[in-house]
Amino acid sequence: MSESFDVIVIGAGPAGYVAAIRAAQLGLKTACVDNFTGQDHQPALGGTCLNVGCIPSKALLDSSRQFHNLTHNFAVHGIHTQDASIDVGTMVGRKNKIVKQFTSGISMLFKANKVTSLFGTGKLLQDNVVEVQAADGKITRINAANVIIATGSVPIELPFAKFDGKQVVDNAGALDFDQLPKRFGVIGAGVIGLELGSVWKRLGSEVTILEALPEFLGPADADITRIARKEFTKQGLDIRLGARVGKVEVKANEVHIGYTDQKGDQALVVDKLLVAVGRRAYTDGVLTDGLGVKVDKHGRIEVDQHCWSGVNGVWAIGDCVRGPMLAHKGSEEGVAVAELIAGKAGHVDFNTIPWVIYTEPEIAWVGKTEQQLKEENIPYKIGTFPFAAVGRAVAMNEPVGMVKIIAHAETDRLLGAHMVGPVVSELIAETVVTMEFKGAAEDLARIVHAHPTLSEAVHEAALAVDKRAIHRAN
Ligand code: NAD
Repeated sequence: MSESFDVIVIGAGPAGYVAAIRAAQLGLKTACVDNFTGQDHQPALGGTCLNVGCIPSKALLDSSRQFHNLTHNFAVHGIHTQDASIDVGTMVGRKNKIVKQFTSGISMLFKANKVTSLFGTGKLLQDNVVEVQAADGKITRINAANVIIATGSVPIELPFAKFDGKQVVDNAGALDFDQLPKRFGVIGAGVIGLELGSVWKRLGSEVTILEALPEFLGPADADITRIARKEFTKQGLDIRLGARVGKVEVKANEVHIGYTDQKGDQALVVDKLLVAVGRRAYTDGVLTDGLGVKVDKHGRIEVDQHCWSGVNGVWAIGDCVRGPMLAHKGSEEGVAVAELIAGKAGHVDFNTIPWVIYTEPEIAWVGKTEQQLKEENIPYKIGTFPFAAVGRAVAMNEPVGMVKIIAHAETDRLLGAHMVGPVVSELIAETVVTMEFKGAAEDLARIVHAHPTLSEAVHEAALAVDKRAIHRAN
């Protein structure tokens, strides 16, 4: 007899582990199956986000930021240093320690919440039986009234640029170089390309980013991307747009790249190449034939707005279903599904999911861009405010960027907020709350914001919607 659970979650990334914890909190007997092994060859919960994504990249972004400030920005404060150097091994070791702390933290949370954690590869069979194959091949079967599939996504590999883990790498590889690559190439000026390109640029690599599309960061608001691109170029990131890579060859420790742009055939030689052209849902082998669960042409499990697959007791959440591939979107879907299973009302509002890119300056947005509103013929009004006029930003020596608030022209309801500047990853939350509460620009404008803080940029941008910003001519 296989052991029975109320809920089995396949995958312990930010979607799966959160779903498991919430289900257990709601009194459901829950198991979570995961097969990720960490650098110490031990099971490591937390999926891509904790092991090779959000958390380790933020650790390296912070180390490289400190180094860059030390070598470029301290003199203005009267602080002078000589012979600053970076020990890449120590930096990567610190990152690994942080990852271990957080992956072990999930194990502790599972214990505290009485989630049964099973190490192995899960496969859904008929009648909600889940087969778990351990690393040694041993098979266990368990079953549950409800199974939540949260198997995540994997990097897309270009057929002519296969990952070799050494010179042609994915995001995980680019987090683990043992020394500074002199020339670092990136294919794809998306979120990963910009974040990891920034890390190695700040440490001293020559960084070239090849982007196939003619425009930069298409999904973001054009006013924001214009400022960001200017700043990245000032920092020395060589971003080449309209660059279609057709050939990648590794020769004598060098990566030779052939691409075409408006001017014709071009060549680039680098020491390491990161391919960051997007991710694809990872659902290979997780469903046995004949279950009735549908998979679309991108490999994503088809679900309705409640993450239900249409098959009794089978749900799917996170990167392996439609919607943006963002950890927080997956986590909220995990909470919503656990609550629906427990008979409560679970819901995720896709209109208020914030986006953040952890470059310097940071980029963050929520809601509609000005371009989208134009296309949808929705009347709008705009208020902007530059960080150059915010005392705290100037005192921090980070007066770059702005906040742009977009409200409905007639109702004043907040439709979007777009930011580039210092710590906007945190500032965006206030506008998300306003949108969730169906608030108006005037609501933001009437809220008291502490002085001096960076949040005054949000306040002033909201005031500017009504042409009454105080610290700038309207
Ligand atoms: P992405 O979709 O953000 O960017 C990929 C870029 O590669 C696009 O601009 C695309 O036009 C370009 N591209 C595609 N094929 C190309 C080619 N042959 N040559 C040149 N350019 C090409 O994908 P990503 O940066 O790989 O990130 C993957 C996913 O992970 C994204 O969905 C992202 O949202 C998520 N992610 C999010 C964060 C964050 O929230 N801060 C961080 C990392 C990753």
